Amino acid sequence: EILRCLVGSEMCIRDRKYVVVGAGLAGLTIAERIASQLNEKVLIIEKRPHIGGNVYDSYNNDGILIQNYGPHTFHTNDDEVFNYVLQFCEWHQYQHRVLSYVDGNWVPMPIGLETINKLYNMNLSETELMDFIESKKEKIEDVKNSEDVVLSKAGRDIYEKFFKYFTYKQWGVYPSELDASVISRIPFRTNRDTRYFTDQHQGNPKGGFTRMCERMVAHPNIRIMLNTDYKEIIDQIEYNKMIYTGPIDYYFNYKLGKLLYRSIRFEFETLDMESYQPTASSRYPMDHEYTRITEFKKMYGQKHPKTTICKEYPCFGNEPYYTYPTQEWKDLANKYRALAALESNVVFLGRLAEYKYYDMDDVIRRALNVFEECIK
Ligand code: FAD
Repeated sequence: EILRCLVGSEMCIRDRKYVVVGAGLAGLTIAERIASQLNEKVLIIEKRPHIGGNVYDSYNNDGILIQNYGPHTFHTNDDEVFNYVLQFCEWHQYQHRVLSYVDGNWVPMPIGLETINKLYNMNLSETELMDFIESKKEKIEDVKNSEDVVLSKAGRDIYEKFFKYFTYKQWGVYPSELDASVISRIPFRTNRDTRYFTDQHQGNPKGGFTRMCERMVAHPNIRIMLNTDYKEIIDQIEYNKMIYTGPIDYYFNYKLGKLLYRSIRFEFETLDMESYQPTASSRYPMDHEYTRITEFKKMYGQKHPKTTICKEYPCFGNEPYYTYPTQEWKDLANKYRALAALESNVVFLGRLAEYKYYDMDDVIRRALNVFEECIK
């Protein structure tokens, strides 16, 4: 009922002042604000057959709620963003925990006291841990890349066990070929906190992200056209402003070249058992071709006699997931941004249009700011 596919319905699409390209969190947030705060009509054009973008989730044939584009946990310290999201869902409180399979042991990630004690079969206190790590660190005067970051923060053994091959699987290159900024984002803890995220608000919407997204756009001012690349119809639409959340290079017909993204091949499997692994997410930094296994039931707290897991194989091609973190692509993205700045009635918003990795709370925050600063 909420999603009306309007191909051919000229009346509905001609009277829109605003067009939003892309029905991910960026597009849905801005459309919701325009519809509810400005009381203006918005048309959302989405090329996929569903809304939600990468946070789309759905029930599979066995009735298990899965996340079709990879595991997502909402986490934020931004009270305004959290309260915004709460308008559209009830909240399932959940603390994300991740175990890494290293040397035949399951150890908590990010690396902390429990990780080191389990891995080396020790019983260190918090202060002893700091001395232990200090003794392992390598002295590197000029930290140039991600390998240097880990060696200088944790030493070679931890680098080999947790980062070297995992990074290779994730990005297709070793840490020595990546900017220092790529791995410096991974937190390293000296306390006993085994949660993956430490943000004040964490969890997932009850019933899933798709249901939350449907509620975001359940406003009479919003129309959605699915299964449509905006370029197929944009010439037939009159609008005052476009909010574009698709890939920035595609908007400019790749005229400066194609931006690089890392993608993921997901392999889903439903198993005839109630539980597959101790935590929702497990990581495989030493061997195995896949990087992670997710067990979705554990993220949503769903009770079911079976369970669905998802193995992730990073690759190139397929859907664009992660912006590629080397200078070459940052430079190309900057050139596209300079072109985008010249487009007077288009706002470029979100991870694809800005060629920037955003967590869900970041992208909602960004959309709320863009609404205040550029639309309202
Ligand atoms: P998208 O969700 O990609 O939406 C863009 C939309 O535009 C898409 O629906 C696309 O189909 C559409 N589109 C593109 N081109 C066109 C076109 N030509 N015409 C019409 N429509 C078009 N964040 C967290 O906070 N926690 C997590 O645990 C987390 N896990 C993640 C795991 C993975 C594997 C990935 C890849 C990301 C994860 N994220 C996580 C980040 C999260 O997915 C993003 O913050 C969010 O999806 C960004 O929303 P967006 O609207 O910018 O982009």
